[in-house]
Amino acid sequence: MATGFFWDEKCFWHAGGNYAFTLPIGGHVQPLAAGGLPESPETKRRLKNLMDVTGLSRALDLRSADEATREDLLRVHPATYLDAFKSLSDQGGGELGRRTPFAQGGYEIAALSAGLAVAAVDAVLRGDLDNAYALSRPPGHHCLPDFPNGFCLLANIAIAIEAAKAKGMANRFVVLDWDVHHGNGTEAIFYDRDDVLTISLHQDGNYPLDTGAVTDRGRGAGEGYNINLPLPAGAGHTAYLYAMDSIVIPQIEAFDPDLIIVACGFDAGATDPLARMLATADTFRQMTLRIKAAAEKLCGGRLVLVHEGGYSEVYVPFCGHATLEALSGSRITAADPMAEALRVRQPGPRFDAFLKGEIDHLASLL
Ligand code: ZN
Repeated sequence: MATGFFWDEKCFWHAGGNYAFTLPIGGHVQPLAAGGLPESPETKRRLKNLMDVTGLSRALDLRSADEATREDLLRVHPATYLDAFKSLSDQGGGELGRRTPFAQGGYEIAALSAGLAVAAVDAVLRGDLDNAYALSRPPGHHCLPDFPNGFCLLANIAIAIEAAKAKGMANRFVVLDWDVHHGNGTEAIFYDRDDVLTISLHQDGNYPLDTGAVTDRGRGAGEGYNINLPLPAGAGHTAYLYAMDSIVIPQIEAFDPDLIIVACGFDAGATDPLARMLATADTFRQMTLRIKAAAEKLCGGRLVLVHEGGYSEVYVPFCGHATLEALSGSRITAADPMAEALRVRQPGPRFDAFLKGEIDHLASLL
């Protein structure tokens, strides 16, 4: 038994788009000399490269996977959306939603990205692996059933959950989303359901601008099974771990899942260009240790992390490496070259006390 690491070079070939950073080119927005969207393959490829250089990848069970099947995709996405996506992809690419450009073959790459998540969940639930990480790209947590947005073209985690449920492998799931942006797609897909507890820990007022409120708790049978924790900009290591210890872990324990899935974005990292938080590689290590301990206590250690955002090409690899060290229990490390600089930049005790007060206030509203 081991920790699985699901990846495929083909996912790094997802491309496309007339963007300069997150802005459509045109009018007064000049094209960038190098690159378009911040969602580039380099953050992910450099994570895999760092793991190869340190030797961590050799301590893991590296696998690829088949593309998610149309049957898998249809459990979450309507045929009209899949047909439009496939057709435009075959014609050379384009865009169907908001900030979700793709090139020729983008449909198959997105299906492979979802397939990595499906295979990771399947292997862990079968007991073939202790736990697993899926280096999915494009990401999935913003994608609605019929509207791609925020770089997300298919709802990777929801597709994996529905595939597992269709096979009768598990009934109760937790999705913990620590990407710095609100997991609006996952929330919407499971908003009416009491079999999937969705928890999103995100920067207040970041993308999307109109979702992620603490008062959005679910609907009908799903009332109480959606938890949003919007944190103020500037939250760092202490605030993230306080939110995990005081709210996230107790809520997961009360739910008692069969499997925990983490929507694992690294854009709460202190150098990320799309957010204003101060998490460090050690923050991700400590959050992973906490969620791993919860999985061991509640569901036989069954835990799958699925890669989402994270746009700092230099720092994401170190955050990811620390996460995989913790997930696998390996002693192979990649020392964080920014540790000292980011320790000095953490919020001081007075702002941390304010953040704890804000988190306590969020808890009082649940
Ligand atoms: Zn994000």
